[in-house]
Amino acid sequence: MSHAFPPRPQPAIAVAGGGPAYPVARIFCVGRNYAAHAREMGGAIDPEAPFFFTKSPAHLAPSGATIPYPPGTADFQHEVELVVALGAPLFRATPAAAAAAVWACAAGLDMTRRDLQAAARERRLPWDTGKDVEGSAVVGALGRGFVPEGQAITLTVNGARRQEGRLSDMARGVAELLAHLSGLYHLGPGDIVFTGTPAGVGPVLPGDVLEGRIDGLAPVRLTIGPPD
Ligand code: MN
Repeated sequence: MSHAFPPRPQPAIAVAGGGPAYPVARIFCVGRNYAAHAREMGGAIDPEAPFFFTKSPAHLAPSGATIPYPPGTADFQHEVELVVALGAPLFRATPAAAAAAVWACAAGLDMTRRDLQAAARERRLPWDTGKDVEGSAVVGALGRGFVPEGQAITLTVNGARRQEGRLSDMARGVAELLAHLSGLYHLGPGDIVFTGTPAGVGPVLPGDVLEGRIDGLAPVRLTIGPPD
């Protein structure tokens, strides 16, 4: 099929050690999956089921990117997260089947216009403008064979530690999250999931350099540029 204008390039994530990149179809994110972060947001873990929101694949940014401080906010914040990338179809799956469908994992940043998210939350409106921000889905190189256990997950801003936790602090682990999500969507290769952030989220400013780390995975780095 011909197109009326050149299509945007296919968003993709680099794989550690080289080889073909992982093309991204959809980006799902989990809200409030670490108790200490749920508390700092003035909430709690939802007892019934996890909840999800999405980001546009066009808003993916690679590790090492510089993104401008985004418009419409005075409170742009960092959230470091484990990202899982699927490699097999998954629908109405058990946690065991879900775990087996993970193709690779990465360290990621779910960058957030917190003031817009908070205003939306208060007014019971959608989170899109707070969460689905241009350049806000930052993902480091994907690591194959990584098994989420109790690895440390940390974030520094200009070298100072801001966030710290362990993957075992997740209220719901990767397998359980994916099993839930597979009850809502026909998941498959190209779908990635941000699995929630530990406590310590906070604001960034132009000139800041962020580094997220998960033991056993490549770091994810981001520089905040001046606003456009
Ligand atoms: Mn998040």
